[in-house]
Amino acid sequence: MLDRAGIDYTILEKRKTHSAIGSAIAFSAVVLRVLEQIGLYDDVHKIGKEFSQTTISMQDGKVIGKLDGEFAKERYGYYNEIMARPDLMEILLSRVAPHKILMGKKVLKVTEHPDREDGEDELAGLVTLLCSDQSQYQGNLVIGCDGAYSAVRQRMYQNLEAKGVRIPKSDFAPFRFDQHCVVGVSKPLNPETYQILKKPFCEFDVVLAEDFSYSIWLMPLNNNRISWMINGKMFTPQATNKKDAKNQLEENFKASEWGPEAAEELCNEVRGFECPYNGGTIGELIDNTPKEVISKVMLEDKMFETWHSDRVVLLGDGGQGATQAILDAVVLVDLLHELPSTSAKDISKALKQYRDKRYETAKSAVTASRQGGALFSTKGFFMDLLRAFTFKFMPRWLYLMTSDRIQASRPILSFLPAVPDRGSVKSI
Ligand SMILES: Cc1cc2nc3c(=O)[nH]c(=O)nc-3n(C[C@H](O)[C@H](O)[C@H](O)COP(=O)(O)OP(=O)(O)OC[C@H]3O[C@@H](n4cnc5c(N)ncnc54)[C@H](O)[C@@H]3O)c2cc1C
Repeated sequence: MLDRAGIDYTILEKRKTHSAIGSAIAFSAVVLRVLEQIGLYDDVHKIGKEFSQTTISMQDGKVIGKLDGEFAKERYGYYNEIMARPDLMEILLSRVAPHKILMGKKVLKVTEHPDREDGEDELAGLVTLLCSDQSQYQGNLVIGCDGAYSAVRQRMYQNLEAKGVRIPKSDFAPFRFDQHCVVGVSKPLNPETYQILKKPFCEFDVVLAEDFSYSIWLMPLNNNRISWMINGKMFTPQATNKKDAKNQLEENFKASEWGPEAAEELCNEVRGFECPYNGGTIGELIDNTPKEVISKVMLEDKMFETWHSDRVVLLGDGGQGATQAILDAVVLVDLLHELPSTSAKDISKALKQYRDKRYETAKSAVTASRQGGALFSTKGFFMDLLRAFTFKFMPRWLYLMTSDRIQASRPILSFLPAVPDRGSVKSI
């Protein structure tokens, strides 16, 4: 998007080599329309498998219900597309000039230099980033897309506090961890054994353990592969003061880097589960997955209140998902394209508008993801009723109304030629 807006940029990435976890990612019309606008849709469509329905069942095979999603194309212009993350990363990398991505650059420090009209300071109006290899980079704006444990966020908060800005307490509270999970993408499988692979559409299967301590998600991908995810519940005590919160943050950070042994432990818990596709076990599916693409990850979420300072802004993960990160980018790049100047006044005004435009939608996404998670992991009479209603008895009109609300806005960049809205339910 920055390329399309004619804005020069450099990407600093802490990893030494590119890598994406072996799991699937799903995109709906909400972002596919802008991906089409910037010329990515055809490639995404090639690596994606179109999605048609989700079946939710219990470990003993009893089906709780089905949700269909095939209507998305007619209503919103695109089927949902499910793809393997490494395939998506390859496409994204092919679109960024290699010299713009600097690897092995772990950002440690962020320093904003105030604007000066007397020309006395050559760094005035810039932000300096210091990396762990002692290299430094300057720009008019820093966009922190460095994930849930953003170093840019931490430094920005320190800088704001040093200037006397009060950061809300909730911004320092630890992430909420409800689940840890192990993910993998199988090698190409025999469709005669895994009959589901013969179907042209991707049909999700979610299997819930009898005591709701685990759920298993299966998603057929292109090239006869199956992406699987084992979701295990976990509980994080919520810290009540700043010191506890900091300790918790550090513990969460350590836990988020769990290695292959932890992954194996979780896999072993569910090896005996029946795989809904062929009567074999989940263990067989795990054995058909190259070890190096099995990863353990934590599913965290949190809504931050403070999004920017004068020349530093955050984009992407606080748990809102990749879709929300892309929507962040659409709004931010649109505003940057219209900037009258690179003065701190104009940039910070645009950053404020960015937060105002995105805040409510991002907050709803965090809430929705929490509620969705609870449906798959909480036991009890009330939750059984809610599950039965959501997946089986919800009237069609209500289901479509809910879906229309989620897909209501499918924004595109205002400075590029528009992509027609092909859905029967028009984007707002
Ligand atoms: C199993 C799983 C399935 C998911 N499925 C979906 C889905 O279907 N749809 C969806 O919308 N979302 C999904 N999500 C969520 C989605 O993956 C994240 O929301 C998204 O990756 C966030 O992107 P990000 O760029 O903000 O952060 P990240 O993807 O975390 O990227 C941050 C980058 O910054 C780098 N970095 C970190 N610190 C520094 C530093 N100090 N200096 C330099 N570089 C640094 C990291 O190495 C990394 O490359 C899923 C997540 C998981 C775990």
